[in-house]
Amino acid sequence: MDKKRRDFLKIAGVTTLAGLGGTTVVDRLVSGSSPVQARAAQEVDPAEHGAGEQTAAAGHGEEVVKSGNRLGMVVDLRKFREHPELLEKVRQACHAEHNVPDFPNKKDVIKWIWPTGFENAFPEHSTYHLNESSEDNKVPVFCNHCDSPPCVKACPTRATFKNKDGIVAMDYHRCIGCRFCMAACPYGMRSFNWRDPRAGLDMNNINRRFPTRMRGVVEKCNFCAERVGLGEQPKCVEVCGETKAMIFGNLNDPESEIRKVLKENFTIQRKPSAGTHPSVFYIV
Ligand code: SF4
Ligand code: SF4
Ligand code: SF4
Repeated sequence: MDKKRRDFLKIAGVTTLAGLGGTTVVDRLVSGSSPVQARAAQEVDPAEHGAGEQTAAAGHGEEVVKSGNRLGMVVDLRKFREHPELLEKVRQACHAEHNVPDFPNKKDVIKWIWPTGFENAFPEHSTYHLNESSEDNKVPVFCNHCDSPPCVKACPTRATFKNKDGIVAMDYHRCIGCRFCMAACPYGMRSFNWRDPRAGLDMNNINRRFPTRMRGVVEKCNFCAERVGLGEQPKCVEVCGETKAMIFGNLNDPESEIRKVLKENFTIQRKPSAGTHPSVFYIV
């Protein structure tokens, strides 16, 4: 077993599945099921909101016992500049993995990860005489899985919550669509389903391991908690592969790859003045 996989299984043992609440993968590992079997057991019928959301609902309202992990991501913008096709590949892979609908009208658009300009991504950093490469290239933005997440505080139903490993997760079943979380997020990283999201999906070609959502529900990047819970890398990290444009791991483990990368590179974070303590770092 390679080190990367071992590291992930270590995290997986304490990671709540799917970012959706519910059983830890350790229960499945203890019961003897392989990641593949666990994946099959986790399979839901995404066409039936109820099924997916029942899975999602399991465990809601329970007190979250902290694992001591804090999962985080480093985004290496130098690598994205070297591989300009990567950003769109990552976006498409994330959206396909999570059954994110594709609507043509701007107001209906649902986004989990997307490209934006340097000025939008880092409004607190001076862009006076920005160097050409930063000016010309886009920055991938997604939920920061903040350590002090205002969206969690704002949510009246605990549909948004921080899981044991620091992932800011969602239980779609509990979401009443009040959008307080959207108003609270200083980064605009959440989307609201104004339309039935299934209308924007090819229902014959969806990922049957992840639930579809319904109209009136908020959604966002979940740090691929459902994959991490099975000992896999987030989809975007997998797509980046050997480019190492995205690195994921436990910020609280001094021996982890992510900590090594953070130690060796100067990074910045989005809107530090918001005091949310993002878990996403950017090498510019
Ligand atoms: S980026 Fe926004 S949605 Fe994500 S955890 Fe922070 S406040 Fe919440
Ligand atoms: S829209 Fe849903 S997740 Fe957001 S605050 Fe309201 S209930 Fe919570
Ligand atoms: S961590 Fe997962 S959900 Fe978040 S942007 Fe990457 S692929 Fe999408």
